Amino acid sequence: MRRKIRTRRDIAIQTALVTGLSVLASVVVTVIVTTMLGTVSIAIALIPAILVPLMVAPPITYRMSVLHHRLYLQKKLVERMAAEDSLTGLANRRAFFTQARYEFLLARRHRQRTSIIMCDIDHFKRINDKYGHTAGDRVIVEVAKAIREEIRESDIAARIGGEEYVIFLYDAGAADATRIAERIRARIAGEDFGRIGVPDQVTVSFGVAESPFAASVKALMDLADAKLFEAKDNGRNRVETSAATVSGEPSAQIA
Ligand code: GH3
Ligand code: MG
Ligand code: MG
Repeated sequence: MRRKIRTRRDIAIQTALVTGLSVLASVVVTVIVTTMLGTVSIAIALIPAILVPLMVAPPITYRMSVLHHRLYLQKKLVERMAAEDSLTGLANRRAFFTQARYEFLLARRHRQRTSIIMCDIDHFKRINDKYGHTAGDRVIVEVAKAIREEIRESDIAARIGGEEYVIFLYDAGAADATRIAERIRARIAGEDFGRIGVPDQVTVSFGVAESPFAASVKALMDLADAKLFEAKDNGRNRVETSAATVSGEPSAQIA
């Protein structure tokens, strides 16, 4: 709503400016020409000089501003569609890699810790089989919501597969990331999914890894993924953290 009002005001300002400039230019040219020719009185010549731009400029400028604004909105929509997972609103795989790679390099330069959390819903196939694909989709959305609400706005969360998610945490070591993963795990395990048509406990497994031991986002994801496999093997509904990331001074090993 606020954006709409601002836009309407912007269009009005733009229309007034173009109209004012058109009238000014028309008056200046008319005064110069009538003075040079001396055939018509300036007062009479000024009437069409003011009226014509006053009638022509506003509708044309208004229409062009509206079209320009629509184009802007469409560009934003296309950008969002290209970067967003349409089901959950989280980043998609491509947007994740673009953003995470940038943040990863930035963090290395500033000697900041970064971590990755890989998440996968447990026995999701059973949920689909028992309650249907649409209910499964609702679970995917709820888990995404829990992830989004438990991380910082500056962290990057993405859905990278059917029921798989990844979180990139800037300025967070393995201990911080493990704490956050544990918080998300406990929240989902305690949530009542009956209200969205899945009256079973839904659980998620997590794998965590920290950056000083990985050369790239992909390598960091592989480390976290290996831990996620371990979490599945060790009974699911749990967080496993890469041992390589637990100790050591990260900044000394980044160079
Ligand atoms: P595990 O605990 O080992 O992760 O078991 P799982 O059943 O979750 O793992 P598996 O990878 O076998 O099953 C994932 C299922 O997710 C299979 C697939 O049909 C389903 N799936 C993939 N994408 C979507 C989606 O967008 N919506 C829904 N509802 N289901 C999906
Ligand atoms: Mg999976
Ligand atoms: Mg799964």
